[in-house]
Amino acid sequence: MPNHPRIGIGYDIHRLEAGDGVMIAGVRVPCPYRVVAHSDGDVVLHALCDALLGAVAAGDLGEHFPDTDAAHRGRDSAEFVAAVRALPQLAGWSLVNLDVNIIAQAPRLGEHKPAMRRRLAELFGLPLDAVGVKARTNEGVDAIGTRQALAAQAVVLLARTAG
Ligand code: MG
Repeated sequence: MPNHPRIGIGYDIHRLEAGDGVMIAGVRVPCPYRVVAHSDGDVVLHALCDALLGAVAAGDLGEHFPDTDAAHRGRDSAEFVAAVRALPQLAGWSLVNLDVNIIAQAPRLGEHKPAMRRRLAELFGLPLDAVGVKARTNEGVDAIGTRQALAAQAVVLLARTAG
């Protein structure tokens, strides 16, 4: 069934510590936290990369960009997106839409969602109406609810463009 669409799912979570801002969906959000991560710790971009990889059964982000590799230290996750999109396994596929859930008690993200959608549209080559970004708190419970971490879930749909 070579012409059937493909769907992919991704998830990521990173710990928070005291700091001056976090990168989420390619947007810097000023807040009294930072993300503990080897790269810039952008949970949305990491979840989306895993969703793309999953849609073509090409492994996961950790296999492609090991966090033991010093080259990825502090790396802008937009570079991971570009590298994943350029993988040969994704040649002949085009992204139809993406959808994201962000789960964060802090920072509050409501005012940043329009900028996140614009940045994701740019990074993934999509029209704005094919980019969904939802944000929610964790109702004050669990590690996310107590501001020790933030997380993201992502889904992508791919359609055949060639072959
Ligand atoms: Mg990550």
